[in-house]
Amino acid sequence: MSKQVLILPGDGIGPEIVAEARKVLEHVNSHFKLDLTLCDGLLGGAAIDAEGVPLPAATLALAKESAAILLGAVGGPQWDNIERDLRPEKGLLQIRSALELFGNLRPAMLYPQLADASSLKPELVAGLDILIVRELTGGIYFGEPRGIRTLENGEREGFNTYKYSESEIERIARLAFEAASKRSGRLCSVDKANVLEATVLWREVVERVSADYPDVELSHMYVDNAAMQLVKAPKQFDVIVTGNMFGDILSDAAAMLTGSIGMLPSASLDRDGRGMYEPCHGSAPDIAGQGIANPLATILSVAMMLRYSLAAPEAAQAIEDAVSTVLDAGLRTPDLYTEGSQRVGTREMGEAVLAALPQ
Ligand code: NAD
Repeated sequence: MSKQVLILPGDGIGPEIVAEARKVLEHVNSHFKLDLTLCDGLLGGAAIDAEGVPLPAATLALAKESAAILLGAVGGPQWDNIERDLRPEKGLLQIRSALELFGNLRPAMLYPQLADASSLKPELVAGLDILIVRELTGGIYFGEPRGIRTLENGEREGFNTYKYSESEIERIARLAFEAASKRSGRLCSVDKANVLEATVLWREVVERVSADYPDVELSHMYVDNAAMQLVKAPKQFDVIVTGNMFGDILSDAAAMLTGSIGMLPSASLDRDGRGMYEPCHGSAPDIAGQGIANPLATILSVAMMLRYSLAAPEAAQAIEDAVSTVLDAGLRTPDLYTEGSQRVGTREMGEAVLAALPQ
């Protein structure tokens, strides 16, 4: 039976990079006979301009019928001054929440060809391959009560609530253990159990779930130490699982170990493996429309989608190999450019990946 894939180009460089990823997806769809049907929708600023809201009902309906979603990025300065609830980023939070995409997988992998692009010494990062599993729909970003209130003495106070239920912790822990058992079998759970009660429970539940995964070696680390270890000796990690806020910060730090944000894909999954796939970077308004954005993170997001939601690991591998081939050939968008390599634009990079795929 045909599976539907929803494509949401979004804003800024979104349409440019998604156009290249779409060609790659169409090619593998036909080459590997995947029987995927692609459809398009609006999200973010593009949806605000056309429909007045960042997540139109029609987009959400298509998303609910789809096995997977490919997103470019949303946001841009032209929508920064509108009401908070109508901003492009709100559409992204709404779709993640409506589809219960609680598990965010962010690989931080350094292609050996790009070792020079990292801010760390090549020997510390060469061969780096970490997977950060971040809880995405709970924790302090969603906890109620929240707000800014005025105290009796007239001073204002900002407040948020950090909470996690046992079931929320258990489902993200299972996702992480599953991922770790398919990799090198090491999982590090990151918390702040020395200070925050919510993460005392986090640690307890992760320990309990670990009994079901005897093949995975579990360790725990406080978040401050994890931040330090990530820049000191990042290769000690395989899979890291953590809550929403810690994951947000640690995954950006891990991203920079690899040199370019333009190379990093991500997946956000629900309980059944349906997912939304997007590059880790934003809409890069500073370079939008210039044809110079790196499309590889979006193309690699297509590979993740084929692997995690569409049960097509061969097609996923073919795309990852094709990306490696173009990097071997020395092709670089400006964000990756170093002397001696061949500077190319968004479309040329996309075409090169397409040409390196099995024909
Ligand atoms: P950004 O990731 O868009 O850009 C940061 C820097 O990285 C910029 O200099 C940009 O040119 C560069 N960059 C990003 N992607 C690139 C690519 N593929 N190729 C080459 N260079 C690339 O982050 P920002 O500037 O903080 O945010 C811009 C907008 O994106 C904001 O409106 C923000 O809210 C939004 N945003 C959206 C998402 C998302 O859709 N998931 C994520 C982060 C930020």
